[in-house]
Amino acid sequence: MTEDIVVIPGDGIGQEVIPAAVSVLETLDVDLSFTEAEAGDHVAAAGGDPLPAETHELAANADATLFGAAGESAADVILPLRAAVDSFVNVRPARTYPGIEAVRPETDIVFLRENTEGVYAGHEDRLSEDVSTLTRVVTESASRRLAEYACEYVTDRDLDGFTVAHKANVMRETDGRFRDAVFDVAEANGVETDEVLMDALAMHLALRPEEYDVVVTPNLAGDVLSDLAAGLVGGLGLLPSANLGPDRGLFEPVHGTAPDIAGQGIANPSATVLSAAMMLEHLGYDSAGQRVRDAVETVLEEGPRTPDLGGEASTEDVTAALVDALE
Ligand code: ATP
Ligand code: MG
Repeated sequence: MTEDIVVIPGDGIGQEVIPAAVSVLETLDVDLSFTEAEAGDHVAAAGGDPLPAETHELAANADATLFGAAGESAADVILPLRAAVDSFVNVRPARTYPGIEAVRPETDIVFLRENTEGVYAGHEDRLSEDVSTLTRVVTESASRRLAEYACEYVTDRDLDGFTVAHKANVMRETDGRFRDAVFDVAEANGVETDEVLMDALAMHLALRPEEYDVVVTPNLAGDVLSDLAAGLVGGLGLLPSANLGPDRGLFEPVHGTAPDIAGQGIANPSATVLSAAMMLEHLGYDSAGQRVRDAVETVLEEGPRTPDLGGEASTEDVTAALVDALE
């Protein structure tokens, strides 16, 4: 069966790292067909909608979407795209690689972040000259859906269980509901859990990240804590992510458009290639996904490396090395 993959390079280094990932995917023995779609600042600058209806439609119907980055228009592009795939969980692994400098090389954590609600779905109001408010939304259904996925995630991988991060001691109603719903689902599935207050977790991550494997979080907390973990493992150029819905996913590097290096041909393609590996695994091509991960690991260790990792290689040099490692 042919897998129908939509690729959206977007802006900045998205235009460089997405073609690199496609080149890597094309060397594999997996039947993928690629459709390129437009989105981002450059589309808006040309008088269009930053997320053209056609691109939204393609992503909503593809088997999977691989996305690069969008600049100023990011919120207008990525939020509707996540909604197009009905994404309820953002999967963000943070780990180090041999030979890559990291603050905490022992870090190897996957964040499973609620992707639809919390303060990001909240309604903001200005009540007076002095007062602004934000309503936070937490639903039983979204919390349970995330927890079901978390159970499946640890069971499929033979992991011990997961940690729930929250602040239910203060936000008793919203985080209380989140915590109780996640615990309830875990118990029904026979999955072990423990819990940690999200502020304490921030400190534990900085000092003892090796104590955590899989962390389930509300939306904002997952955003902040996974960025903290990104800082521990040696830079944005290495971090992939997946936005998963019930039927399809949207895969993207954690980094943005990197305007400071865009157009120079020196962007590190690893984060996007690793996102492509997550895509392969989500589509059921586990061994192809693993081969891609192994190739990234080999090239990170042996070089060539892009300047962000202390090397002098171009995106193309690294891509060629990845293709070599796979052939
Ligand atoms: P945006 O607003 O699009 O997020 P930004 O200015 O925040 O843009 P990021 O893309 O988030 O930029 O990157 C932050 C820093 O990390 C920049 O200095 C950028 O050059 C560097 N960086 C990010 N991704 C990569 C990459 N793939 N390869 C090399 N350097 C990168
Ligand atoms: Mg950024």
